[in-house]
Amino acid sequence: KEKTLGMIKPDGVEKLGQILDEIYKRGFLLTRLRMCCLDRNQAFRFYEEHRDKPFFNALIDYITSGPIIVFEIVNTNAVDNWREAIGPTDPSRARTVAPTSIRAQYGIDVTRNVVHGSDSAASAVRELEFFFPSSGPM
Ligand code: ATP
Repeated sequence: KEKTLGMIKPDGVEKLGQILDEIYKRGFLLTRLRMCCLDRNQAFRFYEEHRDKPFFNALIDYITSGPIIVFEIVNTNAVDNWREAIGPTDPSRARTVAPTSIRAQYGIDVTRNVVHGSDSAASAVRELEFFFPSSGPM
């Protein structure tokens, strides 16, 4: 079994019931979950690989605009299965190529695309450690 980090972004939290239902319908097992707010410093660290991209400031403004929910999914092929469930980055593209994906159904635009998923097993390890540090309070 593999682990991945899923996130419901600020606009997704406003549609929480529907997004949780999408997760439930697909049978994903959530093994850890927390709701939190990222400050700008934490958002910079989480998205540091994108710091030179033209959309970086918009991404930081968006991800710090309200609470997010992060969770660990344990599943065979968790990384790829969750990426497939969320669909392509741009919701309008998702509506063409993956109309039943979560981004296709609930995404607003390429910034406000409701959910996130680690893009590889190595990112999943880093991102899970970011939100659920093994040195944490539990
Ligand atoms: P995520 O990492 O959130 O799962 P992703 O892997 O599909 O998304 P990335 O290329 O890693 O996409 O981009 C990270 C996030 O940055 C996207 O989810 C989106 O919110 C934002 N983003 C990506 N590309 C653009 C863009 N061209 N314009 C605006 N925002 C963008």
